Amino acid sequence: MVRLDKKKFDDFIRELSEEYSVYAPGKAGGKTEFIQINPGDEIELTRPVTDMSPKSIFFPPAEVLFEYDEDGVRTPQTSHRPIAVFGMRSCDARSLVMLDRVFGSAIQMPEDANFQDPYWKEKYDTSLIFGFACNEPLSTCFCNWLEGGPHNKDGMDVFVVNAGDFYLMEPVSDKGIDIINRLSCLTDAAEEDEVLAAKLASDAKSMMAAPLDSGGLGEKLTALYDEPIWGEISAKCVNCGACTFSCPTCHCFDVQDEGKGKKGKRVRIWDSCMFPIFTMEASGHNPRALSSERVRQRVMHKYSYYPENYGEILCTGCGRCVMVCPVNLDIREVLKRIISYNESGKSNE
Ligand code: SF4
Ligand code: SF4
Repeated sequence: MVRLDKKKFDDFIRELSEEYSVYAPGKAGGKTEFIQINPGDEIELTRPVTDMSPKSIFFPPAEVLFEYDEDGVRTPQTSHRPIAVFGMRSCDARSLVMLDRVFGSAIQMPEDANFQDPYWKEKYDTSLIFGFACNEPLSTCFCNWLEGGPHNKDGMDVFVVNAGDFYLMEPVSDKGIDIINRLSCLTDAAEEDEVLAAKLASDAKSMMAAPLDSGGLGEKLTALYDEPIWGEISAKCVNCGACTFSCPTCHCFDVQDEGKGKKGKRVRIWDSCMFPIFTMEASGHNPRALSSERVRQRVMHKYSYYPENYGEILCTGCGRCVMVCPVNLDIREVLKRIISYNESGKSNE
């Protein structure tokens, strides 16, 4: 474990910037999100979660896949420097591991297939993630329901704890060990720093509401697929998509061609399974025409289908969807309701 004196923070960013494009939480258009920063820039570390998640660094809301004209097809010149992210909370660092199973991994694919997404991999595989422990989780946070926690280190290269006048940094991966060994602005931590970090972790854990036992959730969801509960749960949803766009693990996208004459480009843009036209077919048939079917799809994907494929729930408990939903459709209440639903079709609550 090492220390970074907060007075040396700009030196730290300056050193990182020699090698990496550095991102950190900041203000953009009245919202907090991960933005590219330079030494001396103000960053926003006071709120546990940014309004927008860090997925946009690696999976942008709109990304040109290729351009074409009469001379042929070209992928955009990507002069990507490797990306370093500072200030990524435990829930968000975990979300990137979840997304990497979809975009970056060839597991469960036929041997000769390569469905890895080069646009994601180019950025994510070379990235360096400085995670950031949550010392004061919000009332909307529920990472502790989902095998996470405010000081969880999954998906991080370096784990950072805010310890007053200084940050404590613990390398978690080989990349993390390498960068910690090379940064000259760091000093060795004192023996009592480990004790302080452990106390902050235990205090943060105790601030969170008792976790819900999510065991058996997938089976329960499968059993409830055709039950009327979905109509009741979705009754107030206005299908705005805010939950999906703010979610660090939602990754639906559309591909559109923007062309004029003989030149144009193909662009990947974020989409949302909550939108009525998401599954609209050319014939006019829509397999998920009802709001209840779309809400069910979002819940089933996160808590049943993805875990079936990858062995982990596709939700980090960051609470963003709870905060942004204009009609207060709280995913925690949905989960509680599903778990307590009994065979007579009534919630036990
Ligand atoms: S579903 Fe909600 S709580 Fe879960 S990761 Fe997405 S935004 Fe966060
Ligand atoms: S944010 Fe709320 S109202 Fe909007 S689509 Fe999601 S659940 Fe429905």
